[in-house]
Amino acid sequence: MDLFRVEKKATGSRARLGRVRSSHGEFATPAFMPVGTKAAVKGLITAQLLELGTSVVLANTYHLYLRPGSDLIRQLGGLHHFMNWNGPILTDSGGYQVFSLSDLRKVTAEGVRFKSHLDGSEHQFTPELSIAVQRDLGSDLVMVLDDCPPYPIEEESVKRSLEITHHWAERCRNAELNPGQALLGIVQGSTYPHLREESAKTLVQIGFEGYAIGGLSLGESRELKTEMVDAVVQNLPEESVHYLMGVGTPEEILSAVSLGIDLFDCVLPTRNARNGYLFTSQGPLVIKQSRYRDDSSPIDPDCDCYVCKHYSRAYLRHLFISKEMNSAILNTWHNVHFYLRWMEKIRESIANDTFEELKNAVSCC
Ligand SMILES: [Zn+2]
Repeated sequence: MDLFRVEKKATGSRARLGRVRSSHGEFATPAFMPVGTKAAVKGLITAQLLELGTSVVLANTYHLYLRPGSDLIRQLGGLHHFMNWNGPILTDSGGYQVFSLSDLRKVTAEGVRFKSHLDGSEHQFTPELSIAVQRDLGSDLVMVLDDCPPYPIEEESVKRSLEITHHWAERCRNAELNPGQALLGIVQGSTYPHLREESAKTLVQIGFEGYAIGGLSLGESRELKTEMVDAVVQNLPEESVHYLMGVGTPEEILSAVSLGIDLFDCVLPTRNARNGYLFTSQGPLVIKQSRYRDDSSPIDPDCDCYVCKHYSRAYLRHLFISKEMNSAILNTWHNVHFYLRWMEKIRESIANDTFEELKNAVSCC
């Protein structure tokens, strides 16, 4: 069973409509994966995710390995059962979190040694362990362990880091997966186009079911990011799924779709919701602002979500100021709805040959 197939290509850009097939169901691309780092999408239970039309979620190997432990999750029937999500799940390998959250990282060809951000205990991730943990979790889309250099970084250090990333990718490829699990390689190379190209080619040579682009959105300019994505996608097989990790705003997603990206994940809709920052068709809305104190209109008059149908800005501001937990729930509902509808709009525009019009209508892209 092929993981991915392209169903329609847009004219005038590399945007495409596609379909991912996993052992826990299919979904249409371009797709956005709400982030459920610790086996929970913050603020939304499964029934709500389903009602919102969520087709795939992301969970994190680093966090679940440390707590509650992947062996426990395996004993309890695997991650799908544990978190009551029967749709597709992608698990990140933990590479990025080791570099962004833990102390005392020591990277060798063997693996990365780190201290848990929870209790300071020492651990080592090897490519084989990362895959074994993802096998315990039983996710559908499995990511290779990669070395994630910081930004900015000099070229020589990126070259050394890439050697490790490619060596680890090969070891992940050779590790055993559960039947039905698909493995995605991760292209690194910081902001050096020739290293990005080289990384893409090396990974394609090893051969994966799909390819991700990691190590972006670390503070580089939008132009540089676009240049890197472009350099990578041109060197990936057209018929494989392309995943841009950790991106981004609705505008960045649209721009990346036009470069040939199919899959996205980002904490923005959920994290911003908890901070009272809401996405609307008219741009961002900060719900705590005093001008919404007596505003009886919905967050976004053009949004048909449950929250916009039933609640006013004044009420949502009151919940936020009062630190009611329903504030996070309702704000998250709206933001995730906004993102999923945005992806639907992008897919429709590719299907109707109006993608270029949509892109031109969004000024930044
Ligand atoms: Zn809404």
